Amino acid sequence: MKRNSKLKRRFKKITFITIIIFLFFTLVGSDDNNYYQPLQNIVIRNNINTTPSIPFIPNQQLDEKEKYLTTINHQIENPPQPDSYEYILLRAYGAVFINQQPEIKLPPKVILDNEQETQDFQGKMRVNLVEGTSECYLQKVAADAFNKARSIVNIPLKSGYSGDCTRSFATNLRFWQKYANNQTLEQVKQGKETKILGVVAPPGTSQHLWGLALDLRVSSVAQRQALNQNGWFQTVENDVPHWTYLGWNEESLRKFGLQEKIVRDITYWLTPI
Ligand SMILES: [Zn+2]
Repeated sequence: MKRNSKLKRRFKKITFITIIIFLFFTLVGSDDNNYYQPLQNIVIRNNINTTPSIPFIPNQQLDEKEKYLTTINHQIENPPQPDSYEYILLRAYGAVFINQQPEIKLPPKVILDNEQETQDFQGKMRVNLVEGTSECYLQKVAADAFNKARSIVNIPLKSGYSGDCTRSFATNLRFWQKYANNQTLEQVKQGKETKILGVVAPPGTSQHLWGLALDLRVSSVAQRQALNQNGWFQTVENDVPHWTYLGWNEESLRKFGLQEKIVRDITYWLTPI
């Protein structure tokens, strides 16, 4: 009998501890409310971009192109093949794929096919507002880094509207149609037209869909320095207002094969492919 009541007490104690642990995780888990889901469309797919906490650094004996492509192979499950439309897009917009911060979600491929696919991807992003705005969202780590840069020096958005920040598939498409058409798209796909890529991104391909780009009005060295120090760089040649969150300091960019190119006094960090 005595042994039995001892067992009962022990059982009660275990039950109590279990409840406490359960409550703790429930409360901690409720932090998920802070995850803004812009499009309420949370579709859990196999996340092929699960990034390890130890970043992948390519063999530094490789040349720039090899360093970059080795990194891409590590970051994308089915990397674009040379001489494809996807490869052209990787060349133009692919600097972003060197970002390996665990909280950053990279798209599984360089083209999001439609609104649904865009929403599915964006629904998995953890996002935050750019301070002082009501609708300028970025992936949280990118927004926090930009807010930090802006605490050093004022950096205005290009238009002040949400289109400067994370865009929907429809907005990307609308911007494209403003500057280009299907004929232009065919030319881009055939590799005959590249300049347009520095003006506007073809449907489904903008870095703005990925929550990792901002259009800004930058005019001073102090603004550039604040952005660079916080992981923001210009990575799309001739797209002057466009900034990309790479999440590395400037010295690290070469490790992944990115090339520095100065055009009209602006330093771009471009893919070497
Ligand atoms: Zn842009």
